[in-house]
Amino acid sequence: MYTAAHGTFGAIITVAAWSVAGPAGVVGALPLAFLSHHVLDRFWEHPYGRFLSRQHILWDGVPILMFALAAFLSGIPWVMVSGWIAGNAMDIWDKGRSWIRYGSPFADPGFWHRHNPPKWSMSDGQTKAVAVLAGALPFVILLVLQGAST
Ligand SMILES: [Zn+2]
Repeated sequence: MYTAAHGTFGAIITVAAWSVAGPAGVVGALPLAFLSHHVLDRFWEHPYGRFLSRQHILWDGVPILMFALAAFLSGIPWVMVSGWIAGNAMDIWDKGRSWIRYGSPFADPGFWHRHNPPKWSMSDGQTKAVAVLAGALPFVILLVLQGAST
């Protein structure tokens, strides 16, 4: 699964916990957001092409920017961003380490990705549908938060 999907899913977990139990709920939900990465990675994305290709930037970068805008407008950016980071932490660790050591984020699967879980390969259309959801759901979170506060 791509970065935008991991981040949005992690943020949904922390925002839900925050709405139920406040800041303590977020702290309790961070491990769940962290573990969600492993579950979502079982859904293997259809590749957009090479890392930072035009397609990759369009289908992963734009949803990430939409998430950032929604987080900024949410009034609880720390809740959304902490969920986003927790949802991506396994990739930040493994791909960051591989990048620093071998010059490529994909040279070494690293600790969290070495188990090579069974994968359900998504089609190009399914992968892009998930990207659209990853960009749109942060604004749904905004609407729900606004509805809850009025
Ligand atoms: Zn991963």
